[in-house]
Amino acid sequence: MPGTAEAILEVSGLVKHYPLTRGIVFRKQVGAVKAVDGVDFSLAAGETLGIVGESGCGKSTVARLLVHLERPTAGAIRYRGEDISRLSGRALKAVRRDIQMVFQDPYTSLNPRMTVGDIIGEPYEIHPEAAPKGDRRRRVRELLDVVGLNPEYINRYPHQFSGGQRQRIGIARGLALRPRVIVADEPVSALDVSVQAQVVNLLERLQSEFGLAYVFIAHDLSIVRHISDRVGVMYLGRIVETGTDTEIYEHPTHPYTQALLSAVPVPDPGARDRRDRIILSGDVPSPADPPSGCPFRTRCWKAQVRCATEVPRLAVPEEFARRGGPAAHPSACHFAAERRVVPPAGEPPAAG
Ligand code: ADP
Ligand code: MG
Repeated sequence: MPGTAEAILEVSGLVKHYPLTRGIVFRKQVGAVKAVDGVDFSLAAGETLGIVGESGCGKSTVARLLVHLERPTAGAIRYRGEDISRLSGRALKAVRRDIQMVFQDPYTSLNPRMTVGDIIGEPYEIHPEAAPKGDRRRRVRELLDVVGLNPEYINRYPHQFSGGQRQRIGIARGLALRPRVIVADEPVSALDVSVQAQVVNLLERLQSEFGLAYVFIAHDLSIVRHISDRVGVMYLGRIVETGTDTEIYEHPTHPYTQALLSAVPVPDPGARDRRDRIILSGDVPSPADPPSGCPFRTRCWKAQVRCATEVPRLAVPEEFARRGGPAAHPSACHFAAERRVVPPAGEPPAAG
């Protein structure tokens, strides 16, 4: 796991709460949606961090915070050592060039009335210093070529392209300013399964060609595994487990990760029968009213009374740390090191 020294991006204590208001004239704050509620991670240059979790757990909010589409309620985002979360003016603009976003839905994120050339070249309008005017068309053609599209398509409109091609256009736009970091928010979720792999392969090729670091967001664990060096699993605005792909996929220690993995289809029927299938009970709680203590406890088969009162820290569980090996990675669970903890009969799990 890369150390702090080589981190290009470092996020600590990141929080985004959206105020919940009542009334139109006297807008009164009656609470908050805790979309992101204390997220920490680091990203090394050239590395891919996958972030996975169910819909609504705060992934897109993290993405928007990283690229400065929104400001955090609390916490720091350090880019090459400097906290960029509260920058403004020219300093902010310079940083924004380096951290670019690829959006989830290539059908809605490209302006249908602009040509592909204007879409890909748009970042040069916002950052004119990045490329001299006379050079921009040439650069856009090169970008089209780099993402595997015919440079002759430069005057076409988005509707003339397939979903996969549109996402390539979105990626070309993301590359226009030669960023160091790309935040890809579910970049293949809206695409046919048959073209998902092509777009993932393109992203991998671009990464090695240009030395990009990726934050790759997905709700699908299998896609993230293929591309990620490390993975963070999110639940209700927090990262509950993080580690290398082998640590997370072969040795998950958080009950939520174990449940997610048990739901991933396995092609081999023998393997399917041999493993435990964990069915989560209940729905994800509202981020406006998250459970006390551990956010996952209301759906967890290991939950005990302690889980309702004490927030588990994202840290290597002591017992695993002593033993070493692939289970020794950060997991935010009080009972990560226990095998199945079944509450005694008649006693409800973690009341409160
Ligand atoms: P994900 O991308 O994992 O599906 P999001 O980051 O989009 O999750 O949303 C996390 C939570 O924050 C959701 O409950 C969502 O409804 C809420 N949310 C997102 N954006 C806003 C906003 N602008 N105002 C209020 N609530 C929001
Ligand atoms: Mg999202």
